[in-house]
Parts: sequence; C-alpha cells; structure tokens
Amino acid sequence: MEFENIIKETGGNRIEVSGGKLVVPDNPVIPFIEGDGIGPDIWHAARMVLDAAVEKEYGGKKSIAWTEILAGEKAYDKTDEWLPQVTLDTIRHFYVAIKGPLTTPVGGGIRSLNVTMRQKLDLYACIRPVRYFKGTPSPVCRPELVDVVIFRENTEDVYAGIEWQQGTSEVEKVIGFLKNELGVNIRPDSGIGVKPISITGSKRLVRKAIRYAIENNRTSVTLVHKGNIMKFTEGAFRDWGYELTRDEFPDATISEDEVWDKYDGKPPEGRIVIKDRIADSMFQQILTRTAEYDVIATTNLNGDYLSDACAAQVGGIGMAPGANIGDLIGLFEATHGTAPKYAGKNCANPSSLILSGCMMFNYLGWHEVADLIFSALGKAIEQKKVTYDLERLMEGATKLSTSDFAVAIIDGIK
Ligand code: NAP
Repeated sequence: MEFENIIKETGGNRIEVSGGKLVVPDNPVIPFIEGDGIGPDIWHAARMVLDAAVEKEYGGKKSIAWTEILAGEKAYDKTDEWLPQVTLDTIRHFYVAIKGPLTTPVGGGIRSLNVTMRQKLDLYACIRPVRYFKGTPSPVCRPELVDVVIFRENTEDVYAGIEWQQGTSEVEKVIGFLKNELGVNIRPDSGIGVKPISITGSKRLVRKAIRYAIENNRTSVTLVHKGNIMKFTEGAFRDWGYELTRDEFPDATISEDEVWDKYDGKPPEGRIVIKDRIADSMFQQILTRTAEYDVIATTNLNGDYLSDACAAQVGGIGMAPGANIGDLIGLFEATHGTAPKYAGKNCANPSSLILSGCMMFNYLGWHEVADLIFSALGKAIEQKKVTYDLERLMEGATKLSTSDFAVAIIDGIK
C-alpha cells in the first residue's frame, strides 16, 4: 500500500525486473535520502543538476520521479529510529536509490547506518570510480594518469562486525575455546575480531568486476590482497578470483603470467588481463605505475584504504563518487561524511554526490545523461568556478557556493 501511494504521489513507475535484469521505465521512481550535516545542501544542488541534465537530454520524454525516504538524524527526529524498516523496504522495492552522507550515531548500540544498509540489502560490491578532472588541484605530478574503478567487497572481512570487547565474558569464552579446542594461545587481556572471507563473497565480487571490465572495454582487473601474510583469507580471495576467471571467463580474460609466458608481455587483442598485487605494494604501484591499473577487485579493508588513497590523487574525497550494488539493488552515495562544521552553510562541494548520480544514470542505462553531467562538471572546474575546498588550492579561482556551483554546471549543460 505504501508503495502504491508513492507511485500515485510521484506519478512515476517502478523499475521492474525481467530475466535477472532491470527494466527501467521512462519515469522511474527513485527514492533519495537527503543525508545529515551538509547532506541537504549538496542533495539540493545535486538534484538540480541531475534533473536539468535529464530535461536537456530527453526534452521531457524521460524524468526521475524522486521520493524522499528517511535515515539518519532526520529519521530519528521524525520517527525515533535512525534507520526505519520502511526505508530499507522502499529501496528493496524500487531497486535504485541515492543518498547523502549520514551521521554515525555515537553510542546507543548502533554501528554505522551505511554499513547496516549495505549488510541488510546485501549490497556486496562497493564501486568507486576514480578519475581526474583537468584543473583540479592534486598532490601528485601526473593525476591525469589515474583512471581506476575499485570494486571493494562490502559484506565480509573485519568489517563483518564480529568482534568481542576485551574483558567481557564473551571474549573469555572465545579465548578459552581457541586454547582448549585448537591449542591457540591468545593474551588474556585481548579484544578479538573475526575476519571471514568466503568463496561466495569473493567470487561474486570478482565476477562483478570482470563483467564491468568486459562491458566497459577496460584492459585489466587487478586482485589486491595481503595473501603473503593472511593465506586462508586474503590469499584465498586471490586464488578464488583466479579460479572464477578460468571457470567463467576463459575467452574474455588472460592471466598476467600467461601474457608473459606466451605473448612476450603484450596481451592479445580483446582479452582482459587478470593480475594480482599484494596490498602494500599496490599502494606504491598506484603512485609509481599509475597507468598500469584499471579495474581493481579487493577485500573490504584493503578497498576502504585504497579508495581514499586513489581519491586523494585526483583532488580528495569531495570529488569521489561511490555506489553499493547487490545482484539488482543499487544504492548510490557521496563517499565523504557529513562535514558537520559546514552544515547549512551552502558551501560544501556537491561533486561527489553529483558524480554518484552519473553512476546511477549509467546503472539505469541513461549513459548520455551521465556523459552530459560529467563534461559540464569538468568544464566548470576547468573554468575555475569551484567551491571553497578547491578554490583554496587553485590560483585565480572563483569561489562559489554549493548552489551556485550547481548553477555553473547547469549553465554548462544548457
Ligand atoms: P567528513 O564528514 O568527510 O569531513 C571531513 C573533512 O573533509 C571536512 O571537514 C572537509 O575538510 C572535507 N570534506 C568532506 N566532504 C566535503 C565536501 N563535500 N566538500 C568540501 N569538503 C568536504 O568526515 P568526518 O568529519 O570524519 O565525519 C563526519 C560524520 O560523517 C561522522 O558521523 C561519520 O561517521 C560520517 N561519515 C559518513 C559517511 C557516509 O555517510 N558515507 C562517510 C564517512 C563519514 P575541510 O574542513 O578541510 O574543508
């Protein structure tokens, strides 16, 4: 009933599923979460840009039927819950949603709303494309060489939330079990966390990364792991990744070893090279051999660090978009936090959320809208019309408010 009302009120239609794929109507209902802190400012700016681009591209034939859903402080104020069940149900029902940043409530037994949403909706792939916009201030010499898409496993690893606090009866039980049943000695004053990495979790993530590489004409997929130390978790992730590649994509891919053994280091036309790198070396390589990396598939913790390290090379997290994707559901989001000191000041950079909107349009198959926004945002930055965070690092730039930056992008769209 709730969902029928949304359809009636917005005048939109539900995205349907056929043959395991999304079928997108011309006016899909898309739920949005405004977010906390700077969320309302950047969401209003982003929505203006997203709507203007759809209008420009399709001249009224297509449009987004936005519907607000609540999470974070706004939800707590109105419903006494940080993440109401109806919010999760609505995303599940309409398949695609977009969100601003959410405060992580301190205390009260709530971990992180973002992590909870990813786990409850089984959004197992966190996807972060990192690309350079000409003119953006960067701490590296050749930021234009960065063009990677990071697929980070989103549900397992030390982020699974399986941990016991030092000094509790639970941790005592775990320490006792390990000692008595498995002969493992752990200092009695330890806290303990568990790092599960499964075949299922690893393979579905690597499968998504390879499919993305095939569909987007990318050249390589690099499996990033710390398998030299954590053999049965990180090392297994790498092994299962290669196994999946051989079993499911034998014609579309080739391993780096085979490229050297049989083709003198030059990959045959049309084959995606599958390679692997140890995580610490990858942090060097992405700086020293930037152009050699394209799609990256990695475990949760490595992916968290690597995403921000890559984003730093192209101008920081204010510019980096993200998406959390499951088998069908896609939740697109700004990757930075709520920056509370700038809340309501109409000064934050909305680029991360706008670019997440571009990812959303690509997910819907509205690629031309994504391209339009992408190039208009690039134009605004090249003209040095930017928000405070970039202006303070650029010589001769014009400092714009969040909403004026959106207007500058819309001018570029028109
Ligand atoms: P943050 O909100 O990302 O802010 C840290 C700093 O990054 C800001 O002070 C600002 O730096 C810069 N920044 C972030 N977003 C910006 C933007 N759009 N435009 C310009 N500058 C931006 O990180 P935090 O202070 O650690 O976290 C605050 C809250 O957000 C916490 O409750 C945290 O749990 C939550 N959080 C949510 C998400 C999410 O929803 N996905 C992600 C991360 C954190 P300057 O002051 O130098 O200008």
